[in-house]
Amino acid sequence: MATTLAIRKVRALATSPGRGGPQKRLIVVRVDTTEPGLHGLGCATFTQRHAAVCTVVDQFLAPLLEGRDPLRTEDLWQLVHVNAYWRSGPVMNNALSGVDMALWDIKGKVAGMPVYQLLGGKCREGAAIYRHADGRSPEEVADRVRAFMAEGLRHVRAQMGGYGGRLSPPLPPAGSQPGAYYDPEAYARATVRLFDHLRETLGDEVALLHDVHERLPPIRAVALARELERYGLFFLEDLLPPEQISWFRTLRSQCCTPLAMGELFVNSNEWQPLVEGRLIDFVRCHISAIGGITPARKLATLCEAFGIRTAWHGPGDVSPVGHAANVHLDVSSPNFGIQEWAGFSEIEQEMFPGCPQVRDGYVVPNDRPGLGIDMNEELAARYPCPDGVLDWTQARLPDGSCGYP
Ligand code: MG
Repeated sequence: MATTLAIRKVRALATSPGRGGPQKRLIVVRVDTTEPGLHGLGCATFTQRHAAVCTVVDQFLAPLLEGRDPLRTEDLWQLVHVNAYWRSGPVMNNALSGVDMALWDIKGKVAGMPVYQLLGGKCREGAAIYRHADGRSPEEVADRVRAFMAEGLRHVRAQMGGYGGRLSPPLPPAGSQPGAYYDPEAYARATVRLFDHLRETLGDEVALLHDVHERLPPIRAVALARELERYGLFFLEDLLPPEQISWFRTLRSQCCTPLAMGELFVNSNEWQPLVEGRLIDFVRCHISAIGGITPARKLATLCEAFGIRTAWHGPGDVSPVGHAANVHLDVSSPNFGIQEWAGFSEIEQEMFPGCPQVRDGYVVPNDRPGLGIDMNEELAARYPCPDGVLDWTQARLPDGSCGYP
């Protein structure tokens, strides 16, 4: 079979299951082969620019790849990566990821093995997850953390008022642009009060995480990391934007709050200095945004040599196929740290048979060959992606100027 196996068809599938509004537009790439019934799926979800990814897949990658050997995963990754001459970026990388994951899925099916076996086999039976607790007051957040602990979770991310703490948005100068306003200083102060309350009422047992989501000026971010040091966080996430990675050396010299970084990274030049300098503790790239399983497993191995653990990005706008890819890497990486977990709606589980399941705070892959997940295209077509712009990314600072979302 392998000698004549070829890629027959490559196409992007877009769906927005179970949610109104443009917040969750999932893109999955399906690669069909000349072997009847043998196909693979990969996540290419870039919710904010979904149609651009579909165009790259359907108009440029399909004609490039059809007729080629789907088992040459590495070579095809390199080919797609350089084929546009200009490389990387979230649109191109997501399109590439859709193909790459689908090829790993096919390879697993040909081998009769789950993808985690191709990556070296299980280092653990399940991957510890964390979920998001948010609320309007420290008491409300503490209640939500307790609810997750009651479900068996040992790790919970705590936020108050969403990213940047948008409970009482500042009043900008008259005539300012509309947007998602937040006050960095008020957010930073409230966050310290939040963790003070959480440790006071919940004790030391639960591992607490927090996502700054790039909402602070660099020196204020350094100060927050120092202020939070006494609460012993599992990690502090995206404390600085990718444009300010040079600040990590200063940050490291000031405190030992564990740092997680990288969900916005799209290029190896962004993570290399942080890894080589041992300036972060967890790498948390969005796997489809860096180009799929092929670069992610290399990044995990690079991090292993420097004592850095993985914490792959796992929000609601990763398709279940992408979550499955995360879990295959999680269970097979010796330096796995933690997996962010958004959970699946009922409709998503029906649309994507084989979704990884959570038991007692751990997510486990199934043992089917490949990524172990399929897609009901008929059902997906009933949930088309809506058009429209996102509101939450129109972030504004107190004086009315643009901020990081
Ligand atoms: Mg994050």
